[in-house]
Amino acid sequence: MAAEKFEVDYLIVGAGAMGMAFADIILSESDKTVLIVDMHHKPGGHWNDAYPYVTLHQPSAYYGVSSKELSKGTIDSTGLNKGLQDLATGPEIMAYFDEVMRYQFLPSGRVTYLPMCKYEGDGKISALTSDKTYEVVAREKIVDSTWLKTTVPSTHTPNFEVADGVKMMPLNDLPKVMEQPSRYVIVGGGKTGIDAVVWLLENHVDPDQIHWVRPRDAWLMRRETTQPDPRFFEATMGAQAAQMEAIASSTSIDDMFDRIEKAGIFVRIDESVRPTMFHGATISDPELAELRKIKNVIRKGRIQRIEPDQIIMDEGTLPSDPDTLFVDCSACAVGNAEETTIFAGDTIRLQTVRTVQPVFSAAFIAHIELTRDTEEEKNRLCQVVPLPNHATDWVRMQNAFMMNQFNWSQEKDLRKWLRENRLDGYSELVSGIQEHETEKLAIMNRLRENSVPSVMKLQGYMAELA
Ligand SMILES: Cc1cc2nc3c(=O)[nH]c(=O)nc-3n(C[C@H](O)[C@H](O)[C@H](O)COP(=O)(O)OP(=O)(O)OC[C@H]3O[C@@H](n4cnc5c(N)ncnc54)[C@H](O)[C@@H]3O)c2cc1C
Repeated sequence: MAAEKFEVDYLIVGAGAMGMAFADIILSESDKTVLIVDMHHKPGGHWNDAYPYVTLHQPSAYYGVSSKELSKGTIDSTGLNKGLQDLATGPEIMAYFDEVMRYQFLPSGRVTYLPMCKYEGDGKISALTSDKTYEVVAREKIVDSTWLKTTVPSTHTPNFEVADGVKMMPLNDLPKVMEQPSRYVIVGGGKTGIDAVVWLLENHVDPDQIHWVRPRDAWLMRRETTQPDPRFFEATMGAQAAQMEAIASSTSIDDMFDRIEKAGIFVRIDESVRPTMFHGATISDPELAELRKIKNVIRKGRIQRIEPDQIIMDEGTLPSDPDTLFVDCSACAVGNAEETTIFAGDTIRLQTVRTVQPVFSAAFIAHIELTRDTEEEKNRLCQVVPLPNHATDWVRMQNAFMMNQFNWSQEKDLRKWLRENRLDGYSELVSGIQEHETEKLAIMNRLRENSVPSVMKLQGYMAELA
């Protein structure tokens, strides 16, 4: 069968949050055409495979695409996010991206959407459901939104062996549990592990029946300090100022983290263990209190193999029983992408240009693609802010973030764009401060005064780490 042919301006590989956020800016800020190809049957990327009880861990107010609000504009009045801005659930996020595609993108007449199709490279696409093929000529660029290699528990392969007779499931399947196991062993100390533990506690499981394999402990961000709403100005911008002071006045990397923790910005589940991981997960104070109820924490490195009667780990073997239920939360959402320049010839490789903000980053990159002429200038304004894995990666990430912020602040049109873009979150918060708002002005002064000293401090730490 001959391939069907398309010619468009941008070929976007992936209809996940980043591909959608990129396409949205191209459509709203230009008259260009796009073709979006994705292996899933609906837009939203990995949210298609998410566990039924997933929610965003950052406020919906700055997630999704720029042109359409995702937040309900409410403050949660119940649950573990009580008192904070609303967090969209997985089904809400899926419905949102579906609406964006069906009611905005497709009716524009400038979008071709090929779900259930695989991009093979070189403009070639094949359907997953038949032998149908397509060939696409991209007049402007091919946009690779798969570079960051996001993985989730339901679709990844664990990096440990599981013998026959062991009960194991991804956290997606927990709501299907109908028989009580002898105990639950949660495998993984990241955001999905946290969600699995909280779900079990909310669903009648005694904390002592939960065992938690945490090869590494993580620094977590207090969600209370990430609220882009004027009512939270002091908590959010005050935290930014306090963080800058903490970095500037620190005497070592450990001391810097301790100061940021003391300022109420970072938290850890177990205060007696120094975290070695940072994935950018945010958590509310009530969630943290729940997690601290788990006393059976297993810290013996990574699991190598699980057998019906034992768990073989890097640093020893633990007894088990065939009635234990292992819950796999070991997928690393942040992936392990190779860091590279974003603009490279006819390809744009979407990566983060602001700390753990993938959708903002995709939208910003699209804006730069449309408004700047040379590849050199585009890459100068879009330096990669690497996704962190180890705690010390935070140093390089924060430095890259501050350098980008500085570069952007020098360009009048970018300042305006950031102020008006809902995915930015913070620029609008600080833009309308009045002269009489002396407390807010004092916070902004603390931020300004400490920014150069903190960059210098971060660069010193980077030299130590190199
Ligand atoms: C549980 C969880 C909670 C999260 N919460 C937040 C949050 O609160 N805030 C936040 O900013 N981030 C959050 N994230 C991070 C999240 O990964 C990003 O926000 C975002 O959803 C990633 O989107 P993406 O487009 O980069 O990747 P994906 O969602 O993985 O999309 C990539 C798409 O590319 C498609 N694809 C891959 N290869 C091909 C190919 N060859 N041909 C065609 N299609 C292909 C895939 O099918 C997929 O649909 C969370 C992640 C997880 C796992």
